[in-house]
Amino acid sequence: KLTERLQGVMESLRGRGRLTEENIADTLRQVRMALLEADVALPVVKGFVDSIRAKVVGQEFDKSLTPGQMLIKLIHDELIALMGAGVRPLNLRAQPPVVILLAGLQGAGKTTSAGKLAKWLKENERKKVLLASTDVYRPAAILQLERLASQLDVAFFPSDPKKPAVTLAQEAVAEAKRSLFDVLIVDTAGRLHVDDEMMVEIREISGVVAPTETLFVVDSMAGQDAVNAAKAFGAALTLTGVVLTKTDGDARGGAALSVRQITGAPILFMGTGEKTDALEPFHAERVASRILGMGDVLSLVEKVTKNVDREQAEKLARKLKKGKDFDLEDLHDQLQQVEKMGGLSALMDKLPAQLAGKAAQMPQGNEKEIKRQLAMIRSMTPGERRYPKTIDASRKRRIAAGSGVHVSEINKLLKNHMQMQKMMKTFSKGGGLRRLMSAFG
Ligand code: GDP
Ligand code: MG
Repeated sequence: KLTERLQGVMESLRGRGRLTEENIADTLRQVRMALLEADVALPVVKGFVDSIRAKVVGQEFDKSLTPGQMLIKLIHDELIALMGAGVRPLNLRAQPPVVILLAGLQGAGKTTSAGKLAKWLKENERKKVLLASTDVYRPAAILQLERLASQLDVAFFPSDPKKPAVTLAQEAVAEAKRSLFDVLIVDTAGRLHVDDEMMVEIREISGVVAPTETLFVVDSMAGQDAVNAAKAFGAALTLTGVVLTKTDGDARGGAALSVRQITGAPILFMGTGEKTDALEPFHAERVASRILGMGDVLSLVEKVTKNVDREQAEKLARKLKKGKDFDLEDLHDQLQQVEKMGGLSALMDKLPAQLAGKAAQMPQGNEKEIKRQLAMIRSMTPGERRYPKTIDASRKRRIAAGSGVHVSEINKLLKNHMQMQKMMKTFSKGGGLRRLMSAFG
């Protein structure tokens, strides 16, 4: 595995004062083998290793880094540069209906991605989306998209499977124009392997729908099949972007690099699961970090902030903006969110040691602690939660008795809350918790 191999490389370089010609060659051989094992196409591997070699030889090393760290940083930066080249948002500025054509092998995740994109465009871009299938070869394929559309409450073009795919594509565009849709997503049939008939058909479809975006959908686990498909579809169509699916699996980081290089098209999205919301804009930094085994810190931070109920976060932000204090009711809501996510300890397993250390110092502490704090707040009256200053000694005793803790713990909670209130004041101008999270990164 690439990750393990590169970790091995890091180990082997640890403690060396400098890189010699010899140990560069040895390391690059490891990198090369690792990339090949991860199904990165040979020419891509060659290009990658060559550019690393060129950068390492004669390089003045940053004094704050060991040579091993320097080399890993170079590899990391190079991976980002290659995989991230040209990454951009979807082009939605064309004359509506903006047509998005999805191409790729059967099972790559086209239909699933069509649904995910529709949801994404509807929710994030507030677009009126029409979904259309041209997959007339498998009876279930059209139904699959129809079900997705109704589940997402997105319009669906009812394709008649007895008509040729190209005719359906034409009809879908006409309908998108007639009914003033912003975006039309055209799902297509795939084959298990590249074949000429499929390529002819998708070219014809492309010809009649004049897509703004032609996205190549590819399974990040498909190995050499992904490489072959990338070549074939890249030759048949003018690909404008790539959707890399199933990155939630035991994805070999190599596919991203390979497909990016072979198609020449930027990777715009990553599929991260079977559910309809499992789609993310492609972040080369994260994939590079994943490949290098540095712990997927950014993804994790985003997951945390995403799990915080948006509505609640906005409510809190509005409140803070009005100059109101972060009260114990708010702390209660925040703690509940952390509890919902399985507590900080569940998250800490996934964090690199250094960050986990900082997270452990957060006032909330561990799961058990969160539950106790919630119990304490729940034993307070609404008035006490809103105005913590009114909690005097006798109230503290009552709350402590009610929640089965010692008075000193009530004091600790109130002290922590005061600190958070101060922090929230500082952060309320920005994105609240998002900022807070990044503050200990
Ligand atoms: P199509 O033949 O290209 O239309 O592929 P489908 O959209 O029907 O997907 C094939 C299978 O892959 C289905 O079981 C999907 O649920 C699954 N799938 C698609 N995208 C992802 C993803 O990002 N992650 C995971 N885990 N599964 C996915
Ligand atoms: Mg399909």
